[in-house]
Amino acid sequence: AAKKDGRRRARTFNPSMLQVLEQREVLRRSLRVALQHREFFIEYQPLVDRSLAIAGFEALLRWRHPILGVISPIAFIPMAESDGLMSEIGQWVLEEACRQALTWPAYYTLAVNLSPAEFLTPGLTDRVSQTLDVVGLPSERLELEITETVLLERTINNLDTLNTLNVLGIQISLDDFGTEYSSLSYLKNFPFDNIKIDKYFINDLPDDQKSQTIVRFVIAMAHGLGMRVTAEGVETAEQAAWLQAEGCDRLQGYFLSPPLGADMVDEFIRKHADTGPDNDRVKS
Ligand code: C2E
Ligand code: MG
Ligand code: MG
Ligand code: MG
Repeated sequence: AAKKDGRRRARTFNPSMLQVLEQREVLRRSLRVALQHREFFIEYQPLVDRSLAIAGFEALLRWRHPILGVISPIAFIPMAESDGLMSEIGQWVLEEACRQALTWPAYYTLAVNLSPAEFLTPGLTDRVSQTLDVVGLPSERLELEITETVLLERTINNLDTLNTLNVLGIQISLDDFGTEYSSLSYLKNFPFDNIKIDKYFINDLPDDQKSQTIVRFVIAMAHGLGMRVTAEGVETAEQAAWLQAEGCDRLQGYFLSPPLGADMVDEFIRKHADTGPDNDRVKS
């Protein structure tokens, strides 16, 4: 009887497994045509400096699937990477976001995420500098965000790529700092302009002692290395106040604003200029 049960269970298990696989296959196929079908769009999440004045926006990719609705980048980017589609999608993001950034005040930066596959694609630096040229966005306004995973392989090539981007005047941010491999040797060897502390370390601020110690340490280390620090995932005013007091250079998170559609950005900029504490901001 046990054997029979086992078989029956095995039989009933299979169809759902198949369904999952079929869904993934359907998703995979629709991902392949999503660019042509204009199903991607970008949201922009503001970043503020220590005085809470807008410093810029981070471009965050979304996929509006015709049947499934809006799909998170966490769900489809790994698939796009393994199918070799990410370079093309990433190029679209870069160009579209740069065009959007041109419509903002000229001292706002634009941050664009690069997945490992994009970063490792030969010709990345040419592609980026050509895009900036074509669109007409000054390279100083672009910030590229990479994660530590990117740097695990091909170290000499990576260093070369980062140095070239640096020479072009493009800023480099180390995203999700502290959650991946976190080898400090990256900080010694690679020319980052900015470290983004992962929201994992921000979540339990301002009360959690361990989070406090880690965040203080990262800020001190980054500043000692001549890098800026951005806290991501700042959700409360208390967290923001604590980070400001500790000298964190930039803040990003729901306390300020969720990622916004391109059309909402202008409204955010206008409202923030009226109500935000950036009226007396000294612009450099
Ligand atoms: P990320 O670059 O670390 O982006 C931050 C993520 O945290 C975003 O999720 C953002 O919506 C979310 N977030 C912002 N503020 C808060 C907050 O206060 N609390 C919480 N809990 N979350 C917050 P999203 O948009 O789902 O993006 C997830 C990841 O997907 C990004 O992480 C980035 O690694 C990747 N990604 C997004 N767009 C692109 C893209 O255009 N290209 C590439 N290669 N990767 C992208
Ligand atoms: Mg990012
Ligand atoms: Mg991040
Ligand atoms: Mg992240």
